Amino acid sequence: MASVVSENLYRMTTLQISQDLPEDDDVSNTIIELKNVWKIYQLGETEVQALRDVDLKIKKEEFVAIMGPSGSGKSTLLHMIGVLDRPTSGKIYLDGTDISKLNDSELARLRGKKIGFVFQFFNLYPTLSARENIELPMRILKRHRDEREKKSSKLLKTVGLENRAEHLPSQLSGGERQRVAISRALANDPPLLLADEPTGNLDSKSGEEIMKFLNKLQEEEKVTVVMVTHEEHIAKHAERIIRLKDGKIVDGG
Ligand code: ADP
Ligand code: MG
Repeated sequence: MASVVSENLYRMTTLQISQDLPEDDDVSNTIIELKNVWKIYQLGETEVQALRDVDLKIKKEEFVAIMGPSGSGKSTLLHMIGVLDRPTSGKIYLDGTDISKLNDSELARLRGKKIGFVFQFFNLYPTLSARENIELPMRILKRHRDEREKKSSKLLKTVGLENRAEHLPSQLSGGERQRVAISRALANDPPLLLADEPTGNLDSKSGEEIMKFLNKLQEEEKVTVVMVTHEEHIAKHAERIIRLKDGKIVDGG
């Protein structure tokens, strides 16, 4: 909670983030770009090369799935795309901004503005209703009550939960909770939605349903979706599948 609030507080300030554009001419069409990215974890004597010289470009409004065996670097790659962490070497451009030029608080602010996160275990606030959970990010940005209600109603409708608005998370099924969590992630209209195993805690029917709604939200909200999954039937809902092996992209890059 504390980190979500403080991260959101950053968004309320008005610091101008300098734009540092990569040279590519298709930059306006690219939401995230990784160039020669390495991520190396040092564990005592041991060095783990979690990502090895990864190049990746994801277009605005693309729907991408990341697949690969356990330990292949999927979560690390998603963390890099979500600028939750910095690469050991290489460059990352988020919507045209070179993140190496930003300090930690500028980076947190950029992340807050550009990225919505969805997790395997929903992470909803148990004492807030579905609608209140969705409206929380908008409340933190002090968006007007009418605007909040309009947006949360639209999102609840899109994910088929207009009759569950006043329910608490404990009164919702797993699939319904994840639909609330996805709606909350999109409340402030970030251009990029990241999801680490969003169906990992759901039965296959609820998982399929989540994918149906993700596809619909992606079209309606014009958002880029990057999702980690280990299930082929979930990944096939994406337009592109990136496959990782031993920290390298072996397909779809
Ligand atoms: P995946 O999500 O595909 O299972 P991860 O990205 O979590 O893979 O991990 C890739 C490799 O990096 C693994 O060998 C893992 O043990 C290692 N790793 C991940 N995070 C850390 C960390 N914080 N410290 C040390 N090693 C890590
Ligand atoms: Mg993982």
